[in-house]
Amino acid sequence: MKTIGLIGGMSWQSTQEYYRLINREVQSRLGGHHSARCVLFSVDFAEIENCQREGAWDRAAAVLIRAAQSLEKAGADFLILCTNTMHRVAGEIEKSVAIPLLHIAEVTAGEIAAAGISTVGLLGTRYTMEQEFFKSRIAARGIEVIVPGEADRIAADRIIFEELCRGKVLPGSRELFGGFINRLVRRGARGIILGCTEIGLLVSQQQSKVPLFDTTRIHALRAVEEALA
Ligand code: GLU
Repeated sequence: MKTIGLIGGMSWQSTQEYYRLINREVQSRLGGHHSARCVLFSVDFAEIENCQREGAWDRAAAVLIRAAQSLEKAGADFLILCTNTMHRVAGEIEKSVAIPLLHIAEVTAGEIAAAGISTVGLLGTRYTMEQEFFKSRIAARGIEVIVPGEADRIAADRIIFEELCRGKVLPGSRELFGGFINRLVRRGARGIILGCTEIGLLVSQQQSKVPLFDTTRIHALRAVEEALA
């Protein structure tokens, strides 16, 4: 079994979900007392969140590069970066180590393509919904990506940072997400990407008539496949 290197803490609410999903999958595939071989570098999210707000992506990249290099030294065979937003600097991280990075948007694009869906809605932080680093990877597969209107983008971003990243899962916010999803479906989305690793803590398939692509689940399970390959 290969050793998975997790760059986590963004936020720790979703990192614990990665850890649980990865171990549960290894146990169900290998049985007995098997669990995942992995190393976790968990950063202080306050530092990263500050960099995001200030647009200081280079400074955030430097923090994540140190984490990646530590994981490589600790014996990780490949890396997963447990956040969609920070894939903004995936290229810089990849260049700083000799081991591969399993890109969250690439593995998600693969699942959407396999489902035969050609138009998807994207929910995530404003960085992920408004910048190109995530959407371009999906679009490269010929899949059209639509994002919510501005008011919904602001509301989704607020719920992610003020609630989900702090461990608050509120029924009112679940309803709001149901509304974001419905409006995307009305505009033609045939699937919805939960493009923030905390959204799966709030939203489940019941909130949606179209299939949900939970990036945390997809990424964690692909990491297991890679580890067991
Ligand atoms: N975990 C989130 C994501 O997947 C948001 C936290 C962050 O900004 O890194 O984008």
